[in-house]
Amino acid sequence: MSKYFKDLWSGVSSVTIGLGITFRHLFTKSITIQYPHETLEMNERTRARLVNNADDCEVCFSCDRACPVGCFTIKGLRAAKDEDLGMLPTGKPKKMHLLQFDIDFTKCLYCGLCVEACDTKSLHWTGPQEDSVFVRQELVKSFATMPADEVERRLKEDADKKAARAKAAAEKKKAEVAAGDAPAKPKPADPVKKAIKPASEDSPAVPKPEKGSED
Ligand code: SF4
Ligand code: SF4
Repeated sequence: MSKYFKDLWSGVSSVTIGLGITFRHLFTKSITIQYPHETLEMNERTRARLVNNADDCEVCFSCDRACPVGCFTIKGLRAAKDEDLGMLPTGKPKKMHLLQFDIDFTKCLYCGLCVEACDTKSLHWTGPQEDSVFVRQELVKSFATMPADEVERRLKEDADKKAARAKAAAEKKKAEVAAGDAPAKPKPADPVKKAIKPASEDSPAVPKPEKGSED
């Protein structure tokens, strides 16, 4: 019987304590954020959303090498000698066009190794990740700004140049091989070698003393 009253007291007291906490919160200031209309200010170092600023990217592939899971697909093309692509935040001239810069966020671990590896700081974190999607493929985000037809034109131009260079090299090699088949002409005597020839070769031979002539 005493156990019955003990349990009853325990139940009533725990409910009273719980309701007391609820009652106290009726008079405290609300901290609810009306997301998505309101957002919390994030800490400066929050790893929320990874973005790349294509203008500041030098296409060095450091981020790609640092990534442990292969999130990046990067394609670049060296600019022509007379092309001015501006300056990088590091103070160096930009020499590469960024043709493709994709990050696959289905693989990303949010480890931040790529951001640490980026010298120009073009790859950086920003505010909260709010890019929810319904299709996984949409989690592959592209950060290159060059239009697709321009990328295609530049790649074709580059391929043509490479093919022309390869053809010229092949023709040169062929010509060298053909020249190598012709009978070799005798080389003219090297005047320097001749000048430093040992004197014994030009001077008349000195007869060896005969055995026993010393006596
Ligand atoms: S945060 Fe880590 S996993 Fe994600 S892209 Fe950068 S290096 Fe790769
Ligand atoms: S994002 Fe940074 S590390 Fe990656 S290729 Fe561009 S400059 Fe290099």
